[in-house]
Amino acid sequence: MIAGLASLIFSPMTSLPLTQPPSSSVGDYLKAIWEIGGSGAASTSDVATRLLVSSASVTNMFGRLQEMGLVRYERYRGAALTARGRAEALRLVRRHRLIETFLLEHLGYSWQDVHEEAERLEHVVSDNFTERLAELLGHPERDPHGDPIPAADGTLTPDDSRPLQESEAGERVRISRINHEETSVLTYLGELGIFPGKLFEVKEVRGLDGVITVEDEEGAAHSLGGPLAGLILVQRVPDKKG
Ligand SMILES: [Zn+2]
Repeated sequence: MIAGLASLIFSPMTSLPLTQPPSSSVGDYLKAIWEIGGSGAASTSDVATRLLVSSASVTNMFGRLQEMGLVRYERYRGAALTARGRAEALRLVRRHRLIETFLLEHLGYSWQDVHEEAERLEHVVSDNFTERLAELLGHPERDPHGDPIPAADGTLTPDDSRPLQESEAGERVRISRINHEETSVLTYLGELGIFPGKLFEVKEVRGLDGVITVEDEEGAAHSLGGPLAGLILVQRVPDKKG
């Protein structure tokens, strides 16, 4: 009896990959493929970089996801989500973005801290919890970073934001999204008062080095280098003042 139990516990069939970090779960792969590839394919190396795992692990997982009917995998193109894979990815994205909104609005987290906490929590809450959260939050359309929250039926409103870099001097823009979730970057932008919802006038777009100068409604000007400006997505606001 004891021997039988021991062999059950230690048999390779039931051993769990305990050393694998949560970031290598099926859900994280689906989210990464969606974030990188959208409706197209995500390459092995891009997913490996994103999830901080080896290319061999990614190739392995792509094979498994294909068997599960969640992706179509071609060796030299990478993996593209099937309809089922996309629905599953969007379910997790919805969960993640609702949790981020909850942490910010109800638990006093700052916007640069919500992502990491949501990465942990999204793996343990149920769909029921997620929908109650949506109800509590009044069914928000965007998360604290300005990213659209997929609806419960898996639909996602197309976002007409464009990079700040495509703006012209004299345009008024509203920041709609910050395309980055790294704490240091968000802390820096937050200190400058650059976050979703904020209005700016574009003062100068320097072709030479991509530096963009914007001025907020209180007259504070900020010059943003190309790499930083590239993370900021905006929507144009009609010129009419007031
Ligand atoms: Zn996030």
